Amino acid sequence: MVIVDDEDFHVPEDHPRAESIKIREQLIEGFKEGFVAVAGLIAHGRGEAFDYILGEKTHHFAEKAEKAAVATLILAKNPVISVNGNVAALVPYEIVQLSKLLKAKLEVNLFYRTKKREEAIKKVLETAGAEKVLGVGESASATIPELSHPRRKVDPEGILIADVVMVPLEDGDRTIALRKLEKQVITIDLNPLSRTAQEANITIVNNITRTIPEMIQITQNIINTKKKREELQKILKTYNNKEILSMATKTINEHLTKLTKT
Ligand code: ATP
Repeated sequence: MVIVDDEDFHVPEDHPRAESIKIREQLIEGFKEGFVAVAGLIAHGRGEAFDYILGEKTHHFAEKAEKAAVATLILAKNPVISVNGNVAALVPYEIVQLSKLLKAKLEVNLFYRTKKREEAIKKVLETAGAEKVLGVGESASATIPELSHPRRKVDPEGILIADVVMVPLEDGDRTIALRKLEKQVITIDLNPLSRTAQEANITIVNNITRTIPEMIQITQNIINTKKKREELQKILKTYNNKEILSMATKTINEHLTKLTKT
């Protein structure tokens, strides 16, 4: 495989899409360091396209899903945040901070699992301050049914016993498998049409680079205002994921309709 060496490339600060290009660079860096998969680069492109159409901002429906996600994670007995290469490349510090605030475990969970990749992700998370990272090497010794090896490997201390699992940027098969195990699944996915988005209990249709800092803010606010469990349960009583997905699709539709008007 020939990879073009672009070591000397720097994103011009005055470029109108500098932010988006910088995010791409983070993934390319992660790819070069061996923890982002080639397919992860392609998946990012798919996400970017949806973000573009959605106006690259947090919409009301995403904010609502973020609040419901935080409430669910705080109320959970055994919450786990699943981390893949793209998550580690895009929000390493933020995901560690969020896991600490929520007292949620971090587990490396890969579609393209290799020893090198899982070790590299563990290192990234530890550098970002994680004290314990599950799902690496021998510790991913349990399996979830209905998935082919090695996509079914999970940690017996983590996803296997979790009641709530947050799986950002996830593949549909595994989301469905987790739902069949009666786990509550929270996802972050810019494509409201993906199987993951459709199958999860809570779908945050937003870029992970905006979502995790926003979830940190929401969690801090809940902690600071000492919100009671009943107040969090109230947020969930009125939450309807089908409605959230419909609002996201409608927003895409409206945006495209506006652009096609002459
Ligand atoms: P599915 O199997 O769920 O139908 P898929 O085949 O697209 O979908 P993946 O490629 O594993 O599955 O999923 C990656 C998902 O993550 C895609 O839906 C993509 O739009 C989304 N995505 C990529 N980058 C981001 C990002 N930065 N923030 C949020 N979502 C993203």
